[in-house]
Amino acid sequence: MNIPRSFAGGVELFPMKKVQILEVKNGQLPKLALIPWVQHQGSEGTALVEYGDFVQEEQILIKGDGINSVSIHSPVPGRIERVIPYETWSGIKTKAFLISLGGEFHRLGKDVPPEPKQEYNIQMLRDKVLEFGALDSEGYPLSQKLAEDPKKINCVIINSVPKEPYQFNEKVLLQTRWEDLISTVNVLHNVYGEARFVWAYTSEDKKDFNRIKNRCQRLGLDINFVPTRNQYPQGDDSLLIKVLGLNKEDVITYDTLSLHSLFDIINNNKPMVEKYLSITSVDAEPVCLKVRIGTKISTILEDCGVSIENNDQVLVGGPFRGAQIKDLDMPITKDINNLFILEDKHRTKGEEYSCIHCGWCISTCPSRLNPSRLSMLIDADKTEIAFDEGLDLCSFCGICDFVCPSHIPLINKFQDTINASTT
Ligand code: SF4
Ligand code: SF4
Repeated sequence: MNIPRSFAGGVELFPMKKVQILEVKNGQLPKLALIPWVQHQGSEGTALVEYGDFVQEEQILIKGDGINSVSIHSPVPGRIERVIPYETWSGIKTKAFLISLGGEFHRLGKDVPPEPKQEYNIQMLRDKVLEFGALDSEGYPLSQKLAEDPKKINCVIINSVPKEPYQFNEKVLLQTRWEDLISTVNVLHNVYGEARFVWAYTSEDKKDFNRIKNRCQRLGLDINFVPTRNQYPQGDDSLLIKVLGLNKEDVITYDTLSLHSLFDIINNNKPMVEKYLSITSVDAEPVCLKVRIGTKISTILEDCGVSIENNDQVLVGGPFRGAQIKDLDMPITKDINNLFILEDKHRTKGEEYSCIHCGWCISTCPSRLNPSRLSMLIDADKTEIAFDEGLDLCSFCGICDFVCPSHIPLINKFQDTINASTT
């Protein structure tokens, strides 16, 4: 029997909302697309167009020629109306193009034939990914993974374990684009030659994976399918590698969203100009929208019929690690995969008290740290000792913060201390 893998610590997730097959709806096209020149934590590339230019759908706007930068393409045909200084939702200061929609789409709504099939090696794949600019689900350039020498890789992990609860976009792809995902795994099989393949998933998705498993077997793809328990943060790459008993030095991981982006690049020469975005909250049914980057978040919420009350928050990501969006007129960028609406009634509120030494943060920390002690060391200005005791091993999963009955803002404290040590 294939017993779901698990790890010490973490939190067992109460059965998630039973999500049946989700319909993917098309979001509205942005009439005025706002395109920041940087859309992840990397450097700014070179602008290839300027104010007043007319651009085609998918035309390259920014060439990703800086360190860790990625190319950015136009999500719509139209005219560049303005170039403005801009700060992204994650605090990156850059510039942005404002593109007014106009002209003809050459791909959207058209029957574009797929690219002819060909054998890829890692360099060919990397060149294509660099040209079409894709990020993985954590917001890192996908080309970085393809920079690794495939001969040094013993194991390729396909990580389909959700990174956080209440994120459904990967599940949607597993249900609606599963054949495309398998086709990409097939390409990776050729690229990584002798490496063995493990495909990890949460036992909640067993039904979807029975289908995937059967198809892979029929195609003769040698893949070890490994279920994991529905436990947060099981989808964290480092933790998963540890749980699988592998050595991170010779392992590479690809998540479901990356497989999907690779498919679009390989088969359709399609740059990352749209996202499968899931919009969820504790109470409402999740919605999945296919939206163009550059679309305002407020437009997307309107499309989904979501109204934000005064003190509700809109987070990029999930409830544990999500970051609040302050201005709902900000656009969807390449690094946004999920919006979580945290209704005011579900927010943990309350005054901060002293630590009552309940030990909950210690028993749940997946990095096996003592968050209570680390917090006290930071308060006492003994950060060096905190680092000696493993502060830099914190993965910012947010569990200690979540379980703390004294409402101590542990994660902020750790993040600020680590950030201060690197500046
Ligand atoms: S945020 Fe850091 S210290 Fe807190 S539980 Fe997660 S890994 Fe442990
Ligand atoms: S969970 Fe909070 S109150 Fe309990 S030991 Fe940790 S820091 Fe202290």
